Amino acid sequence: MQFRLGEASNVALHCSLLLPAMKPESYPQVVSIASKVTTLLVTHATVLVTMDEHQREIPDGGLFIRDGWIEQVAPSSDLPASADAILDLTDHVVIPGLVNTHHHLYQTLTRAYAQDSELFDWLTTLYPVWAKITSQDVNVSARLGLTELAMSGCTTSSDHLYLFPNDSRLDDEIDAAGHVGLRFHAARGSMSLGQSAGGLPPDSVVEDEEEILKDTRRVIETFHDPKPGSMLRVVVAPCSPFSVTRDLMRESAALARHYGVTLHTHLAETIDEEAFCVEHFGMPPLAYAESVDWVGPEVWFAHAVHMSEREIARMADTGTGAAHCPASNMRLGSGIAPIAEYLDAGVRVGLGVDGSASNDGNDLIGEARLALLLARVRRQGMMPVRSALELATIGGARVLGRDDIGTLSVGKAADFAAFDVNRVEYAGAQHDPVAALLLCASTRASYTYVHGKPVVSEGHPVNLELETLVEEHNRAAARLFS
Ligand SMILES: [Zn+2]
Repeated sequence: MQFRLGEASNVALHCSLLLPAMKPESYPQVVSIASKVTTLLVTHATVLVTMDEHQREIPDGGLFIRDGWIEQVAPSSDLPASADAILDLTDHVVIPGLVNTHHHLYQTLTRAYAQDSELFDWLTTLYPVWAKITSQDVNVSARLGLTELAMSGCTTSSDHLYLFPNDSRLDDEIDAAGHVGLRFHAARGSMSLGQSAGGLPPDSVVEDEEEILKDTRRVIETFHDPKPGSMLRVVVAPCSPFSVTRDLMRESAALARHYGVTLHTHLAETIDEEAFCVEHFGMPPLAYAESVDWVGPEVWFAHAVHMSEREIARMADTGTGAAHCPASNMRLGSGIAPIAEYLDAGVRVGLGVDGSASNDGNDLIGEARLALLLARVRRQGMMPVRSALELATIGGARVLGRDDIGTLSVGKAADFAAFDVNRVEYAGAQHDPVAALLLCASTRASYTYVHGKPVVSEGHPVNLELETLVEEHNRAAARLFS
């Protein structure tokens, strides 16, 4: 395997030009796609997995990419022989970049904490720790979490930031995504129902509802880019039924629809939440969501674990999506989401690593493996191996409302990840190296490219120095626990 640069060293050059350390105010400049036309030839992949409508897997496959967009997908012998840059991926499986549909990046600061707690107990243990978080903490944890995600083959991530203690803002993680180089769907979360008003979180971490809506409008108007190939979209995302009021849910839905942005919240995660909804709203979670205008093709729920057959059908009928987070559901003992049932019913489903204080990692290819195994446990039967890869790629793209990513097809953005088939973890599985990605122990991606530009190269992050980042992150984490 070798990475060869053409005359102008365009890939590396663009990367350094596009992703310098930027102030939040100037972020939209970072996300603009390179104006200079460049071509990239990806060639000799052992197998190139397209995840297109024909589920094509191309032996000795490759891509021809122009200015970040896929122009050709074909066997290497059918592709142009030259380009500005050439990435020879002999002995690598190439897949579409993985899409993460649910996360709380700030929680990387508090991994392996509240180790034996279920959701409500876990939250009430962690809220006081999270109340110390600053702008810098949000930024460093997002840089670390997104880097770890990129190293697992992820090219697009959503993040649900729902508490804003001290001087922290959504801008802090948007800035981080610009540094790392991933596509980012920044969900402006919120909590308004403190303990004194019957909610779960302490009053110290909730916000005033007018302020929430005002800031949500600000971040949409400042950052949201709806165009194809967008590196940054904003999502409206009250935290959960037990931490915001009915009014805020309704107002948030109206605001999102006014701006044409998507809606996200936690729903039906645990039995405790179901009991809370029945007690406070007189109905179970999905009926409550529907009563406050929270179903539709622009809506997706994190978890959606506890759903009846009728509710699954309602999710399908309304086009509402689900972010499946198997590791988090297992870690917190929340239950097993009915993923195979969702897929049978035609519900949009993607994967989320969640957390990562309830995971406790940012390993998306590993999450796909867990999704596969857990679906088989629930059904006591088979979900096909490649369905897990579908959830992690095109499934996630659909959940985020994107038709420009998720497959390696002509006209799509050139987001892909490459895994080395010669690693010890895959030894003995080379007869089907695609299945090996899902069935064998998960490994780091050798290469992760977003819009035709490297974010991970030879297993290392391109835009950040990992050792320094880990040190900075651990100093921030230590301060929270001091
Ligand atoms: Zn969550």
